[in-house]
Amino acid sequence: NPVIALENVTKIYSLPTDDVIALDNVSLEIFEGEFVAIMGPSGSGKSTLLNQVGCLDVPTSGNLYIDGKDVKTLNDDELTDLRRDKIGYIFQKFNLIPLLDLKENVEYPLILKNKKRDDTGYPQKLLEMVGLDSTRMFHRPNEISGGQQQRVAIARALVNSPKILLCDEPTGNLDSKTSVQIMEMLAELNRQGRTIVMVTHDDDTAKYAHRRIIFADGRIVG
Ligand code: ADP
Ligand code: ADP
Repeated sequence: NPVIALENVTKIYSLPTDDVIALDNVSLEIFEGEFVAIMGPSGSGKSTLLNQVGCLDVPTSGNLYIDGKDVKTLNDDELTDLRRDKIGYIFQKFNLIPLLDLKENVEYPLILKNKKRDDTGYPQKLLEMVGLDSTRMFHRPNEISGGQQQRVAIARALVNSPKILLCDEPTGNLDSKTSVQIMEMLAELNRQGRTIVMVTHDDDTAKYAHRRIIFADGRIVG
């Protein structure tokens, strides 16, 4: 069964002057354990697709199924649970919280979920797993390099053990050597069974995926 399925998904942004068809009748299935790269020129609908799949936004029409659930049938609480438990998000700009230290950044989704501080040591374990030196746990994001910030962001994305990782240009702010390290880490997480959907412009980054889906003008063209 597909872990992500879109059936005739259309997304229209209504602007004061006109309507923008960002996704035009897109159908797509992504299976458990796949690593998919979403490619295509700027403005072709890649981010819009990722936002729909991540349940950050709802389609104008069509059906979206995440792990077999029709997201249209879920209420707000159920949608929040689905986003939190099934999906990890990794962004180009890392999106760490500047005032929290690195351990607290990773712990934060657990605090939102359990309404209390973590007492299992799991955030530290994840930070070690992504290769962050333990002397760095209590530093703030602005005290570490971009590559290290992306490692922390990956640890945060993993803290609720999601089966899906959504990555929007995960190497977009990194040099090529650091990009290789981050991509090898994502490839390993995929080998461990996580499904990865990654938007990228970059051929070297896309090489880590098993399948490329090319968008143009809101449609799949390849
Ligand atoms: P990509 O990620 O491939 O660059 P996007 O999904 O960001 O493409 O954009 C697809 C189209 O939708 C573009 O024409 C873009 O201008 C438009 N668009 C994206 N987000 C919005 C928004 N929030 N409001 C209005 N138009 C948008
Ligand atoms: P990476 O290969 O992980 O990107 P760098 O080679 O950029 O790491 O950084 C080397 C060392 O310098 C690291 O230990 C990192 O923590 C430190 N460092 C990098 N940027 C900063 C910064 N803005 N402030 C403090 N330390 C930094």
